[in-house]
Amino acid sequence: MNNSDAPRMNFRPDVEQLPPERWVYRVFPSVCRPAYKRDRLTTSFHEAGHCILWVALGGEIESAELTETGGITKKYWPELLRALGEKSQDQPAPAKQPKQQESCSDKKARQENQWRSSTWMAADSLAGRQAEMILHGFQFTGALFEHTSDAKAALWHIERAALPLCSVGYCQLITRSVLTLYWPWVAKVAAALNCRGRLGRGEISALLADMNADPSVAA
Ligand SMILES: [Zn+2]
Repeated sequence: MNNSDAPRMNFRPDVEQLPPERWVYRVFPSVCRPAYKRDRLTTSFHEAGHCILWVALGGEIESAELTETGGITKKYWPELLRALGEKSQDQPAPAKQPKQQESCSDKKARQENQWRSSTWMAADSLAGRQAEMILHGFQFTGALFEHTSDAKAALWHIERAALPLCSVGYCQLITRSVLTLYWPWVAKVAAALNCRGRLGRGEISALLADMNADPSVAA
């Protein structure tokens, strides 16, 4: 895949308060580990957080569902997930292209795109936990390192772009900026999920239809 046919992700979805990109190398010492009850509403906000991050990036949601042990959000953007090498998709991997000569500027653009796509994909993986924290009133007090499947997925993206582990903090700040901006829609999806237990593609699209219209006005 060359740079021109790379799936386009929306790295700046109307967010003015994104952390500066140089903060990807900043260490944010953690001072507290937020604790709260993991009830059904909290899990609903967790899945809603994943939904909103993904839609803000330009993707679609296949479904969001509460399960016996937690919840699951299925994302839809096959070209992007395939390009990033995500294993959860059913589609076969594309045939390998022969290596082409790459100019310095092409290489730089490709590396920057990989750097951004990896940090934003990591931000998406971390969106569930950050949505929970916002719901329960916890501010960002430093990078949170955990052993959850979401945290491992985030690290996979960070390592893929050869970024330092401390960039988890930067990715968590991206997540918080996006979720804060679109919080009314996070709450809307969470309320519907809490009520119905499962939301399909059409239901989520309807709930988020006006998400990019004017972020300052709750629907
Ligand atoms: Zn999650």
